[in-house]
Amino acid sequence: METLSLSQNNNGKTATLSLAQKALEQGQGILRLAPTWVPRSFCVPGRRIKLHPDDYYVLGGQRGGIDERWLSSTTPAKNGPLTGEHEGLSFVVVNDGDKGEKVLLKDAIDELKGELIGDRIWNEYQSWPMYSKFFDNMGPLPHHVHHNDEKAALIGQKGKPEAYYFPPQLNNHGGDFPYTFIGIAPGTTKEQIRECLVNFTKGDNKITNYSQAYKLEPGTGWDVPPGLLHAPGSMCTYEPQKASDVFAMYQSLVNEAIIPEELLWNGSPKESVGDFDSLIDVLDWELNVDPNTMENRFMAPKPVKPVEEMKAEGYIENWVCYKSDAFSAKELTVFPGETVVIKDSAAYGLIMMQGHGQMGVWDIETPALIRYGQLTNDEFFVSEKAAKDGVKIVNLSATDPIVMLKHFGPNNPDLAK
Ligand SMILES: [Zn+2]
Repeated sequence: METLSLSQNNNGKTATLSLAQKALEQGQGILRLAPTWVPRSFCVPGRRIKLHPDDYYVLGGQRGGIDERWLSSTTPAKNGPLTGEHEGLSFVVVNDGDKGEKVLLKDAIDELKGELIGDRIWNEYQSWPMYSKFFDNMGPLPHHVHHNDEKAALIGQKGKPEAYYFPPQLNNHGGDFPYTFIGIAPGTTKEQIRECLVNFTKGDNKITNYSQAYKLEPGTGWDVPPGLLHAPGSMCTYEPQKASDVFAMYQSLVNEAIIPEELLWNGSPKESVGDFDSLIDVLDWELNVDPNTMENRFMAPKPVKPVEEMKAEGYIENWVCYKSDAFSAKELTVFPGETVVIKDSAAYGLIMMQGHGQMGVWDIETPALIRYGQLTNDEFFVSEKAAKDGVKIVNLSATDPIVMLKHFGPNNPDLAK
């Protein structure tokens, strides 16, 4: 997308700026993003992501309800033949004279490269290799698995690690079943799981009989590497993940609904369809039967530096997703009335969860209700340079904290510290 316009640079010469350059300049390194809503035909919305009650089925009943908002996404949603042209993709909002313009975040990154996401990430990936989303389902999801890079390559995809954090602001109720099954009970044999897969088309294949579920707790999260079976519960979930859509459903009946057999073979190359051993091979068996699953996969928030030090400066920042090398996430809280400057070593996307104020040149706020198609001031993307220079945040409320979630790309240098 090359929309050009003229503006004056510092030397008084006329320079030609693309929309992406203009956005970076206007935001002084911070891009404002438009909300990206995604429907799922097989899901019932949990109605906790602030979309107007009349808009959850705004795309038509056939498309299903909207139960996801994708954040900082350069990854198109794969939603079958009816998928919209830009479904799943984030747009940057740019003021162009007196009119508002939009440019895809993907196009802005392709054009600005390291200037936006940093040379470290651009040189290795030539893309923004993660996104995050709010996943808001009323009921539980089927036990499923995401393939690793090696298995995903068989169908031309990348592997997919993902992680969960349950924001308290979106979880006053946990939905129909706020428990997540993770892995397979230690002592279970591959033969027992294979039998469940063979029984996939016979009603309930009972695979979760061999799993264990954990009650979900707002303000905590879980880490889900590739190859690990998991059946996400119904809490509204902030879900940073690698940019990939690879999965296979291993549970045939959930919440009294049948899962189509094609989803069992969804991640298999054509020649492996019908080969149940290949489905077992997708599983990282040791990871699944780990007797210390809770200790190894559960994530309680971890302060990024000594809490007293941060409190004295007017904020608290916690790592909320920190066990994957493909992405990480933080929750930043700025206390009422405080002004802080927060530095990070990497580019990131952010979503406002609570409060209002200013961030750099932008007004930031947390809407209570959003119409489909409406713009907001709650989602942004911070360039590596702006992150390193430090982002100034002013909390204009005397009572309400500012809370935001920040999602980072692979191998965040601050996480290694
Ligand atoms: Zn998953």
